[in-house]
Amino acid sequence: MTEEYKVLIGGEWVKAGSGEMMDIINPATGEVIAKAPKCGPADVDKAVGAAVQAAPAWAAKTVGERSKVLLKLSQLIMGHHEELAKLETMEHGSPIRKTMNFDVPLCAEQFEYFAGVARAMTGETLPVGPWCMSMTVREPLGVVGLITPWNFPALMVVWKLGAALVTGNACVVKPPSIAPLTTLRLGELAMEAGVPAGVVNVITGPGDTVGEALVRHPDVAKIGFTGDTVTGRRIMNVASDTVKQVGLELGGKNAFIVLADADIDSAVEGAVWSAFFNSGQVCAAASRFYIHESLYDEFAAKFVAAAKLVRYGDPTNMETVMGPLAYAGHRDKVESYIEEAKKEGAKLLLGGKRPDTPDTKKGFFVAPTVFGNCNNSMQFMQDEIFGPVVGLVSFKTPEEAVALANDTRYGLSASVWTKDVRTGLALAGQIKAGTVWVNEHLIVFCETPWGGCKQSGWGKDLSTMVLEEYTMTKHIYIDLIGQPMKPWYGLLK
Ligand code: NDP
Repeated sequence: MTEEYKVLIGGEWVKAGSGEMMDIINPATGEVIAKAPKCGPADVDKAVGAAVQAAPAWAAKTVGERSKVLLKLSQLIMGHHEELAKLETMEHGSPIRKTMNFDVPLCAEQFEYFAGVARAMTGETLPVGPWCMSMTVREPLGVVGLITPWNFPALMVVWKLGAALVTGNACVVKPPSIAPLTTLRLGELAMEAGVPAGVVNVITGPGDTVGEALVRHPDVAKIGFTGDTVTGRRIMNVASDTVKQVGLELGGKNAFIVLADADIDSAVEGAVWSAFFNSGQVCAAASRFYIHESLYDEFAAKFVAAAKLVRYGDPTNMETVMGPLAYAGHRDKVESYIEEAKKEGAKLLLGGKRPDTPDTKKGFFVAPTVFGNCNNSMQFMQDEIFGPVVGLVSFKTPEEAVALANDTRYGLSASVWTKDVRTGLALAGQIKAGTVWVNEHLIVFCETPWGGCKQSGWGKDLSTMVLEEYTMTKHIYIDLIGQPMKPWYGLLK
Protein backbone atom coordinates (compact mmCIF):
# COMPACT_ATOMS: atom_id res chain seq x y z
CA MET A 1 0.00 0.00 0.00
CA THR A 2 1.20 3.54 -0.76
CA GLU A 3 2.42 5.22 2.42
CA GLU A 4 0.48 8.35 3.40
CA TYR A 5 2.59 11.01 5.08
CA LYS A 6 1.45 13.78 7.43
CA VAL A 7 2.90 17.25 8.03
CA LEU A 8 4.56 18.52 11.19
CA ILE A 9 2.83 21.45 12.89
CA GLY A 10 3.48 22.41 16.50
CA GLY A 11 5.06 19.04 17.26
CA GLU A 12 2.03 17.07 15.96
CA TRP A 13 1.74 15.01 12.79
CA VAL A 14 -1.44 16.14 11.05
CA LYS A 15 -3.26 15.94 7.72
CA ALA A 16 -3.87 18.96 5.50
CA GLY A 17 -6.96 20.86 6.70
CA SER A 18 -8.65 20.02 3.40
CA GLY A 19 -7.67 16.35 3.68
CA GLU A 20 -6.22 16.55 0.14
CA MET A 21 -3.08 14.61 -0.81
CA MET A 22 -0.43 14.82 -3.57
CA ASP A 23 1.15 11.84 -5.33
CA ILE A 24 4.90 11.40 -4.92
CA ILE A 25 6.37 9.64 -7.95
CA ASN A 26 9.63 7.71 -8.25
CA PRO A 27 11.23 9.30 -11.34
CA ALA A 28 13.19 6.15 -12.14
CA THR A 29 10.04 4.06 -12.55
CA GLY A 30 7.17 6.53 -12.96
CA GLU A 31 5.35 4.78 -10.08
CA VAL A 32 3.51 6.51 -7.22
CA ILE A 33 5.49 5.66 -4.09
CA ALA A 34 3.77 7.80 -1.46
CA LYS A 35 1.25 10.54 -0.82
CA ALA A 36 1.93 13.81 1.00
CA PRO A 37 -0.60 16.34 2.31
CA LYS A 38 -1.65 19.07 -0.07
CA CYS A 39 -1.81 21.88 2.47
CA GLY A 40 -3.31 25.32 1.92
CA PRO A 41 -3.04 28.82 3.42
CA ALA A 42 -5.02 27.82 6.56
CA ASP A 43 -2.38 25.17 7.33
CA VAL A 44 0.34 27.78 6.82
CA ASP A 45 -1.43 29.98 9.40
CA LYS A 46 -1.38 27.12 11.89
CA ALA A 47 2.29 26.34 11.28
CA VAL A 48 3.33 29.98 11.61
CA GLY A 49 1.18 30.29 14.75
CA ALA A 50 2.95 27.30 16.29
CA ALA A 51 6.33 28.78 15.39
CA VAL A 52 5.40 32.18 16.88
CA GLN A 53 4.50 30.47 20.17
CA ALA A 54 7.65 28.35 20.26
CA ALA A 55 10.15 30.99 19.14
CA PRO A 56 10.76 32.93 22.42
CA ALA A 57 11.70 29.88 24.51
CA TRP A 58 14.03 28.57 21.78
CA ALA A 59 15.66 32.01 21.45
CA ALA A 60 16.10 32.15 25.24
CA LYS A 61 18.24 29.00 25.32
CA THR A 62 22.00 29.38 25.30
CA VAL A 63 23.72 28.86 22.01
CA GLY A 64 25.44 25.90 23.67
CA GLU A 65 22.07 24.26 24.39
CA ARG A 66 20.89 24.74 20.82
CA SER A 67 24.22 23.53 19.51
CA LYS A 68 23.89 20.26 21.44
CA VAL A 69 20.50 19.61 19.84
CA LEU A 70 22.05 20.07 16.39
CA LEU A 71 24.88 17.69 17.24
CA LYS A 72 22.34 15.09 18.34
CA LEU A 73 20.45 15.61 15.09
CA SER A 74 23.68 15.12 13.15
CA GLN A 75 24.23 11.81 14.96
CA LEU A 76 20.66 10.70 14.31
CA ILE A 77 21.10 11.42 10.59
CA MET A 78 24.12 9.14 10.48
CA GLY A 79 22.21 6.61 12.59
CA HIS A 80 19.61 6.55 9.78
CA HIS A 81 22.15 6.89 6.99
CA GLU A 82 20.91 4.12 4.71
CA GLU A 83 17.22 4.77 5.33
CA LEU A 84 17.56 8.48 4.42
CA ALA A 85 19.70 7.71 1.39
CA LYS A 86 17.14 5.21 0.09
CA LEU A 87 14.28 7.64 0.69
CA GLU A 88 15.99 10.39 -1.29
CA THR A 89 16.90 7.99 -4.08
CA MET A 90 13.28 6.90 -4.30
CA GLU A 91 11.69 10.33 -4.32
CA HIS A 92 14.29 12.12 -6.41
CA GLY A 93 16.07 9.51 -8.51
CA SER A 94 19.55 10.41 -7.25
CA PRO A 95 21.80 7.34 -7.48
CA ILE A 96 22.15 5.52 -4.16
CA ARG A 97 25.91 5.77 -4.64
CA LYS A 98 25.47 9.56 -4.36
CA THR A 99 22.87 9.73 -1.59
CA MET A 100 24.87 7.28 0.57
CA ASN A 101 28.28 8.89 0.00
CA PHE A 102 27.40 12.52 -0.53
CA ASP A 103 23.96 13.83 0.49
CA VAL A 104 23.38 12.11 3.83
CA PRO A 105 26.92 12.42 5.26
CA LEU A 106 27.01 16.07 4.17
CA CYS A 107 23.70 16.77 5.91
CA ALA A 108 25.17 15.38 9.12
CA GLU A 109 28.36 17.40 8.63
CA GLN A 110 26.43 20.63 8.01
CA PHE A 111 24.59 20.32 11.33
CA GLU A 112 27.92 19.63 13.04
CA TYR A 113 29.44 22.69 11.42
CA PHE A 114 26.61 25.01 12.44
CA ALA A 115 26.60 23.56 15.96
CA GLY A 116 30.26 24.48 16.30
CA VAL A 117 30.59 27.73 14.46
CA ALA A 118 27.62 29.48 16.07
CA ARG A 119 29.32 29.19 19.45
CA ALA A 120 32.04 31.50 18.18
CA MET A 121 29.59 34.19 17.08
CA THR A 122 30.45 37.58 18.58
CA GLY A 123 29.14 41.13 18.84
CA GLU A 124 31.29 44.24 19.02
CA THR A 125 32.01 47.06 21.41
CA LEU A 126 32.34 50.40 19.69
CA PRO A 127 34.68 53.06 21.12
CA VAL A 128 32.38 56.07 20.73
CA GLY A 129 33.55 58.01 23.80
CA PRO A 130 34.39 57.69 27.49
CA TRP A 131 30.89 58.67 28.64
CA CYS A 132 29.14 55.70 27.10
CA MET A 133 29.27 52.05 26.18
CA SER A 134 28.11 51.20 22.66
CA MET A 135 27.82 47.61 21.58
CA THR A 136 26.25 45.38 18.96
CA VAL A 137 24.47 42.14 19.77
CA ARG A 138 23.06 39.57 17.36
CA GLU A 139 19.47 38.49 17.90
CA PRO A 140 17.36 35.83 16.19
CA LEU A 141 14.86 37.11 13.63
CA GLY A 142 11.91 35.20 15.14
CA VAL A 143 10.00 33.00 12.69
CA VAL A 144 11.63 32.25 9.35
CA GLY A 145 10.16 30.49 6.31
CA LEU A 146 12.47 28.14 4.43
CA ILE A 147 11.40 27.25 0.89
CA THR A 148 13.54 24.64 -0.84
CA PRO A 149 13.99 23.05 -4.30
CA TRP A 150 14.02 19.43 -5.41
CA ASN A 151 17.52 19.04 -6.81
CA PHE A 152 19.13 18.17 -3.46
CA PRO A 153 15.97 17.67 -1.37
CA ALA A 154 17.73 17.05 1.97
CA LEU A 155 20.88 19.11 1.64
CA MET A 156 19.17 22.32 0.53
CA VAL A 157 16.95 22.34 3.61
CA VAL A 158 19.82 21.49 5.95
CA TRP A 159 21.90 24.43 4.67
CA LYS A 160 19.17 26.78 5.84
CA LEU A 161 17.72 24.89 8.77
CA GLY A 162 21.08 24.45 10.53
CA ALA A 163 21.87 28.15 10.41
CA ALA A 164 18.34 29.28 11.30
CA LEU A 165 17.99 26.92 14.26
CA VAL A 166 21.35 27.41 15.89
CA THR A 167 20.90 31.19 15.83
CA GLY A 168 17.61 30.80 17.74
CA ASN A 169 14.87 31.08 15.11
CA ALA A 170 11.71 28.98 14.81
CA CYS A 171 11.18 27.63 11.29
CA VAL A 172 8.39 26.77 8.91
CA VAL A 173 9.83 24.63 6.12
CA LYS A 174 8.13 24.25 2.73
CA PRO A 175 9.87 21.44 0.80
CA PRO A 176 9.47 20.83 -2.95
CA SER A 177 6.17 19.18 -3.85
CA ILE A 178 7.76 16.48 -5.98
CA ALA A 179 10.25 15.39 -3.30
CA PRO A 180 9.14 16.29 0.25
CA LEU A 181 9.71 12.95 2.00
CA THR A 182 13.30 13.36 3.21
CA THR A 183 12.44 16.78 4.64
CA LEU A 184 9.46 15.30 6.54
CA ARG A 185 11.75 12.58 7.90
CA LEU A 186 14.34 15.18 8.91
CA GLY A 187 11.57 17.02 10.77
CA GLU A 188 10.85 13.82 12.67
CA LEU A 189 14.53 13.33 13.52
CA ALA A 190 14.76 16.97 14.65
CA MET A 191 12.00 16.29 17.19
CA GLU A 192 13.81 13.15 18.35
CA ALA A 193 17.01 15.19 18.75
CA GLY A 194 15.23 17.51 21.18
CA VAL A 195 14.03 20.39 19.01
CA PRO A 196 10.99 21.64 20.99
CA ALA A 197 7.51 21.36 19.48
CA GLY A 198 6.77 24.23 17.12
CA VAL A 199 10.41 25.18 16.52
CA VAL A 200 10.55 23.11 13.32
CA ASN A 201 7.33 22.83 11.32
CA VAL A 202 7.20 21.16 7.91
CA ILE A 203 4.26 21.76 5.59
CA THR A 204 3.86 20.33 2.10
CA GLY A 205 1.79 21.67 -0.76
CA PRO A 206 1.97 23.73 -3.94
CA GLY A 207 4.43 26.60 -4.03
CA ASP A 208 1.98 29.08 -5.49
CA THR A 209 -0.45 28.61 -2.57
CA VAL A 210 1.45 27.23 0.44
CA GLY A 211 4.80 28.83 -0.43
CA GLU A 212 3.22 32.12 -1.27
CA ALA A 213 1.07 32.18 1.91
CA LEU A 214 4.29 31.74 3.88
CA VAL A 215 5.94 34.63 2.02
CA ARG A 216 2.87 36.81 2.59
CA HIS A 217 2.50 35.99 6.27
CA PRO A 218 3.02 39.07 8.47
CA ASP A 219 4.49 37.02 11.34
CA VAL A 220 7.30 35.58 9.19
CA ALA A 221 10.40 37.76 9.47
CA LYS A 222 12.42 36.27 6.65
CA ILE A 223 12.19 33.88 3.73
CA GLY A 224 15.24 31.76 2.96
CA PHE A 225 14.62 30.57 -0.60
CA THR A 226 16.48 28.34 -3.02
CA GLY A 227 14.93 27.75 -6.41
CA ASP A 228 14.29 29.14 -9.84
CA THR A 229 14.97 32.78 -10.71
CA VAL A 230 11.38 33.32 -11.87
CA THR A 231 10.07 32.08 -8.50
CA GLY A 232 12.66 34.22 -6.70
CA ARG A 233 11.41 37.30 -8.52
CA ARG A 234 7.82 36.48 -7.52
CA ILE A 235 8.90 35.99 -3.89
CA MET A 236 10.65 39.37 -3.86
CA ASN A 237 7.46 41.01 -5.11
CA VAL A 238 5.18 39.32 -2.60
CA ALA A 239 7.62 39.86 0.29
CA SER A 240 7.69 43.58 -0.41
CA ASP A 241 4.13 43.93 0.98
CA THR A 242 5.42 43.14 4.47
CA VAL A 243 8.96 44.49 3.84
CA LYS A 244 10.20 41.02 4.63
CA GLN A 245 13.84 40.02 4.30
CA VAL A 246 14.54 37.47 1.59
CA GLY A 247 17.61 35.36 0.87
CA LEU A 248 17.62 34.18 -2.73
CA GLU A 249 19.77 31.31 -4.02
CA LEU A 250 18.63 31.12 -7.64
CA GLY A 251 19.61 29.63 -10.97
CA GLY A 252 22.88 29.61 -12.84
CA LYS A 253 24.37 29.16 -16.31
CA ASN A 254 27.91 28.46 -15.36
CA ALA A 255 31.00 28.93 -17.50
CA PHE A 256 33.91 26.48 -17.65
CA ILE A 257 36.96 28.15 -19.26
CA VAL A 258 39.85 26.03 -20.53
CA LEU A 259 42.89 28.22 -21.27
CA ALA A 260 45.63 27.25 -23.74
CA ASP A 261 48.01 26.06 -21.00
CA ALA A 262 45.45 23.92 -19.10
CA ASP A 263 46.12 20.33 -18.09
CA ILE A 264 43.64 18.95 -20.57
CA ASP A 265 43.08 15.58 -18.91
CA SER A 266 42.20 17.03 -15.53
CA ALA A 267 40.00 19.63 -17.28
CA VAL A 268 38.14 16.81 -19.05
CA GLU A 269 37.68 14.96 -15.77
CA GLY A 270 36.37 18.15 -14.14
CA ALA A 271 34.10 18.77 -17.13
CA VAL A 272 32.39 15.38 -16.89
CA TRP A 273 31.89 15.78 -13.15
CA SER A 274 30.56 19.31 -13.31
CA ALA A 275 28.26 18.72 -16.28
CA PHE A 276 26.66 15.41 -15.33
CA PHE A 277 26.75 15.15 -11.54
CA ASN A 278 23.12 14.82 -10.34
CA SER A 279 22.12 14.60 -14.03
CA GLY A 280 23.10 18.24 -14.45
CA GLN A 281 20.38 19.29 -11.99
CA VAL A 282 22.78 21.49 -10.06
CA CYS A 283 22.56 25.28 -9.86
CA ALA A 284 26.35 25.47 -10.32
CA ALA A 285 26.62 22.78 -13.02
CA ALA A 286 28.97 23.73 -15.85
CA SER A 287 26.91 24.13 -18.99
CA ARG A 288 28.80 26.67 -21.10
CA PHE A 289 32.27 25.39 -22.04
CA TYR A 290 34.73 27.93 -23.47
CA ILE A 291 37.79 26.16 -24.87
CA HIS A 292 40.91 27.81 -26.28
CA GLU A 293 41.00 27.25 -30.05
CA SER A 294 44.34 25.39 -29.83
CA LEU A 295 42.75 22.72 -27.57
CA TYR A 296 39.19 22.71 -28.85
CA ASP A 297 39.27 19.57 -31.01
CA GLU A 298 41.28 17.52 -28.53
CA PHE A 299 39.12 18.65 -25.60
CA ALA A 300 35.88 17.94 -27.49
CA ALA A 301 37.03 14.44 -28.47
CA LYS A 302 38.24 13.56 -24.97
CA PHE A 303 35.17 15.05 -23.28
CA VAL A 304 32.79 13.11 -25.52
CA ALA A 305 34.77 9.89 -24.98
CA ALA A 306 34.68 10.38 -21.19
CA ALA A 307 30.98 11.37 -21.16
CA LYS A 308 30.14 8.15 -23.06
CA LEU A 309 31.44 6.19 -20.06
CA VAL A 310 29.02 7.80 -17.58
CA ARG A 311 26.96 4.89 -16.23
CA TYR A 312 23.32 5.93 -16.18
CA GLY A 313 20.34 3.80 -15.26
CA ASP A 314 18.67 2.32 -12.20
CA PRO A 315 19.57 4.65 -9.30
CA THR A 316 19.21 1.87 -6.73
CA ASN A 317 22.21 0.10 -8.30
CA MET A 318 25.44 1.07 -6.49
CA GLU A 319 27.27 1.16 -9.86
CA THR A 320 24.99 3.85 -11.35
CA VAL A 321 26.42 7.36 -11.35
CA MET A 322 23.63 9.19 -13.20
CA GLY A 323 19.93 8.72 -12.56
CA PRO A 324 16.81 10.09 -14.24
CA LEU A 325 15.62 13.68 -14.27
CA ALA A 326 13.38 14.51 -11.34
CA TYR A 327 9.98 14.48 -13.08
CA ALA A 328 8.40 13.95 -16.48
CA GLY A 329 7.68 17.63 -17.17
CA HIS A 330 11.29 18.49 -16.47
CA ARG A 331 12.52 15.75 -18.83
CA ASP A 332 10.23 17.23 -21.51
CA LYS A 333 11.64 20.72 -20.93
CA VAL A 334 15.23 19.46 -21.21
CA GLU A 335 14.35 17.64 -24.43
CA SER A 336 12.79 20.78 -25.89
CA TYR A 337 16.12 22.59 -25.33
CA ILE A 338 17.92 19.79 -27.17
CA GLU A 339 15.61 20.26 -30.15
CA GLU A 340 16.07 24.03 -29.96
CA ALA A 341 19.88 23.64 -29.97
CA LYS A 342 19.70 21.45 -33.08
CA LYS A 343 17.49 24.01 -34.85
CA GLU A 344 19.89 26.80 -33.92
CA GLY A 345 22.73 24.97 -35.66
CA ALA A 346 24.66 23.48 -32.74
CA LYS A 347 26.44 20.26 -33.72
CA LEU A 348 25.31 17.23 -31.72
CA LEU A 349 28.45 15.39 -30.56
CA LEU A 350 26.86 13.02 -28.05
CA GLY A 351 23.46 11.93 -26.71
CA GLY A 352 20.46 14.09 -27.53
CA LYS A 353 17.95 11.34 -26.93
CA ARG A 354 16.37 9.11 -24.32
CA PRO A 355 18.51 6.10 -23.49
CA ASP A 356 17.10 2.80 -24.63
CA THR A 357 18.06 0.25 -21.99
CA PRO A 358 15.78 -2.04 -19.97
CA ASP A 359 16.21 -0.12 -16.71
CA THR A 360 15.64 3.35 -18.23
CA LYS A 361 12.45 2.54 -20.18
CA LYS A 362 9.90 3.72 -17.63
CA GLY A 363 11.81 6.55 -15.95
CA PHE A 364 12.49 10.14 -16.98
CA PHE A 365 16.00 9.66 -18.39
CA VAL A 366 18.00 11.85 -20.77
CA ALA A 367 21.46 10.66 -21.84
CA PRO A 368 24.53 12.93 -21.39
CA THR A 369 24.33 15.38 -24.27
CA VAL A 370 27.17 17.46 -25.72
CA PHE A 371 26.85 20.07 -28.49
CA GLY A 372 29.81 21.56 -30.36
CA ASN A 373 30.08 24.70 -32.54
CA CYS A 374 27.92 26.72 -30.16
CA ASN A 375 27.76 30.45 -29.54
CA ASN A 376 26.25 32.68 -26.89
CA SER A 377 23.40 33.89 -29.09
CA MET A 378 21.85 30.42 -29.04
CA GLN A 379 18.94 30.35 -26.59
CA PHE A 380 20.08 27.10 -24.96
CA MET A 381 23.40 28.79 -24.13
CA GLN A 382 21.56 31.52 -22.22
CA ASP A 383 18.79 29.67 -20.37
CA GLU A 384 19.33 27.40 -17.40
CA ILE A 385 18.43 23.92 -18.71
CA PHE A 386 19.08 22.08 -15.43
CA GLY A 387 19.83 18.82 -17.17
CA PRO A 388 22.75 16.89 -18.72
CA VAL A 389 23.07 19.18 -21.75
CA VAL A 390 26.13 21.32 -22.48
CA GLY A 391 27.56 23.42 -25.32
CA LEU A 392 31.17 23.96 -26.40
CA VAL A 393 32.51 27.25 -27.78
CA SER A 394 36.01 28.03 -29.01
CA PHE A 395 37.80 31.30 -28.11
CA LYS A 396 41.07 33.01 -29.05
CA THR A 397 42.14 35.18 -26.08
CA PRO A 398 41.57 35.13 -22.29
CA GLU A 399 39.85 38.53 -22.62
CA GLU A 400 37.38 37.01 -25.07
CA ALA A 401 36.79 34.09 -22.68
CA VAL A 402 35.96 36.46 -19.82
CA ALA A 403 33.60 38.47 -22.01
CA LEU A 404 31.83 35.26 -23.10
CA ALA A 405 31.61 34.00 -19.51
CA ASN A 406 30.09 37.30 -18.36
CA ASP A 407 27.61 37.39 -21.23
CA THR A 408 24.76 35.91 -19.16
CA ARG A 409 22.00 37.16 -16.90
CA TYR A 410 23.22 34.78 -14.19
CA GLY A 411 26.18 35.14 -11.81
CA LEU A 412 26.42 32.04 -9.67
CA SER A 413 29.72 30.31 -10.46
CA ALA A 414 32.44 29.69 -13.04
CA SER A 415 35.76 27.90 -13.35
CA VAL A 416 39.08 28.64 -15.02
CA TRP A 417 41.47 25.85 -16.01
CA THR A 418 45.12 26.90 -16.35
CA LYS A 419 48.58 25.92 -15.10
CA ASP A 420 49.36 29.58 -14.39
CA VAL A 421 47.91 30.49 -11.00
CA ARG A 422 48.41 34.22 -11.64
CA THR A 423 46.31 34.07 -14.80
CA GLY A 424 43.70 32.03 -12.94
CA LEU A 425 43.52 34.63 -10.20
CA ALA A 426 43.37 37.51 -12.66
CA LEU A 427 40.46 35.94 -14.53
CA ALA A 428 38.70 35.03 -11.28
CA GLY A 429 38.74 38.74 -10.45
CA GLN A 430 37.13 39.64 -13.78
CA ILE A 431 34.33 37.07 -13.84
CA LYS A 432 31.05 38.26 -12.33
CA ALA A 433 30.00 35.31 -10.18
CA GLY A 434 29.60 34.43 -6.51
CA THR A 435 32.21 31.64 -6.77
CA VAL A 436 35.07 31.15 -9.21
CA TRP A 437 37.09 27.95 -9.00
CA VAL A 438 40.57 27.60 -10.52
CA ASN A 439 41.31 24.05 -11.74
CA GLU A 440 38.15 22.73 -10.08
CA HIS A 441 34.42 23.04 -10.56
CA LEU A 442 31.55 22.22 -8.21
CA ILE A 443 33.25 21.92 -4.90
CA VAL A 444 31.56 23.44 -1.88
CA PHE A 445 32.57 23.28 1.78
CA CYS A 446 30.68 24.19 4.96
CA GLU A 447 33.35 26.83 5.57
CA THR A 448 33.00 28.60 2.22
CA PRO A 449 30.19 31.06 1.42
CA TRP A 450 27.69 30.11 -1.27
CA GLY A 451 25.54 32.57 -3.20
CA GLY A 452 25.35 34.42 -6.49
CA CYS A 453 25.05 37.85 -8.03
CA LYS A 454 23.01 39.25 -10.94
CA GLN A 455 19.91 37.06 -11.47
CA SER A 456 21.42 34.21 -9.45
CA GLY A 457 20.22 36.02 -6.36
CA TRP A 458 21.72 37.52 -3.23
CA GLY A 459 22.68 36.57 0.28
CA LYS A 460 24.87 33.68 1.38
CA ASP A 461 24.32 30.14 2.54
CA LEU A 462 27.08 28.25 4.40
CA SER A 463 30.21 29.67 6.11
CA THR A 464 30.02 32.06 9.04
CA MET A 465 28.33 34.58 6.73
CA VAL A 466 25.03 32.67 6.86
CA LEU A 467 24.82 33.34 10.60
CA GLU A 468 24.33 37.00 9.73
CA GLU A 469 21.51 36.08 7.35
CA TYR A 470 19.48 34.57 10.21
CA THR A 471 20.20 37.18 12.90
CA MET A 472 19.75 40.90 13.17
CA THR A 473 22.35 43.26 14.53
CA LYS A 474 21.07 45.43 17.35
CA HIS A 475 23.00 48.44 18.62
CA ILE A 476 22.74 49.08 22.36
CA TYR A 477 23.92 52.36 23.87
CA ILE A 478 24.46 52.89 27.60
CA ASP A 479 25.13 56.26 29.16
CA LEU A 480 27.90 55.95 31.78
CA ILE A 481 28.03 59.39 33.37
CA GLY A 482 24.49 59.88 34.60
CA GLN A 483 23.50 62.79 32.41
CA PRO A 484 21.92 62.73 28.98
CA MET A 485 24.41 63.28 26.17
CA LYS A 486 25.56 66.71 26.30
CA PRO A 487 26.28 68.68 23.11
CA TRP A 488 22.90 68.25 21.40
CA TYR A 489 20.79 68.87 24.48
CA GLY A 490 22.07 72.43 24.45
CA LEU A 491 20.33 72.94 21.12
CA LEU A 492 16.95 73.00 22.89
CA LYS A 493 17.97 75.49 25.52
P1 NDP B 1 11.20 26.32 -8.04
O1 NDP B 1 11.50 27.78 -7.95
O2 NDP B 1 10.20 25.86 -9.00
O3 NDP B 1 10.73 25.74 -6.61
C1 NDP B 1 11.48 25.95 -5.45
C2 NDP B 1 10.54 25.98 -4.26
O4 NDP B 1 9.71 27.13 -4.34
C3 NDP B 1 9.61 24.78 -4.21
O5 NDP B 1 9.41 24.40 -2.87
C4 NDP B 1 8.34 25.36 -4.81
O6 NDP B 1 7.18 24.66 -4.46
C5 NDP B 1 8.35 26.75 -4.23
N1 NDP B 1 7.54 27.73 -4.95
C6 NDP B 1 7.10 27.68 -6.23
N2 NDP B 1 6.37 28.78 -6.52
C7 NDP B 1 6.34 29.54 -5.40
C8 NDP B 1 5.77 30.80 -5.07
N3 NDP B 1 5.05 31.51 -5.94
N4 NDP B 1 5.95 31.29 -3.82
C9 NDP B 1 6.68 30.61 -2.92
N5 NDP B 1 7.25 29.39 -3.17
C10 NDP B 1 7.10 28.88 -4.40
O7 NDP B 1 12.61 25.62 -8.25
P2 NDP B 1 12.88 24.08 -8.47
O8 NDP B 1 12.34 23.30 -7.32
O9 NDP B 1 12.48 23.74 -9.84
O10 NDP B 1 14.47 24.01 -8.31
C11 NDP B 1 15.34 24.23 -9.34
C12 NDP B 1 15.93 25.63 -9.30
O11 NDP B 1 16.61 25.84 -8.08
C13 NDP B 1 16.94 25.86 -10.38
O12 NDP B 1 16.74 27.10 -10.98
C14 NDP B 1 18.26 25.86 -9.63
O13 NDP B 1 19.29 26.56 -10.25
C15 NDP B 1 17.86 26.47 -8.33
N6 NDP B 1 18.84 26.15 -7.29
C16 NDP B 1 19.70 27.14 -6.87
C17 NDP B 1 20.70 26.86 -5.93
C18 NDP B 1 21.63 27.94 -5.46
O14 NDP B 1 22.30 27.70 -4.45
N7 NDP B 1 21.71 29.09 -6.11
C19 NDP B 1 20.86 25.52 -5.40
C20 NDP B 1 19.90 24.56 -5.89
C21 NDP B 1 18.93 24.89 -6.81
P3 NDP B 1 6.63 23.48 -5.42
O15 NDP B 1 7.64 22.43 -5.40
O16 NDP B 1 5.36 23.11 -4.78
O17 NDP B 1 6.46 24.10 -6.77
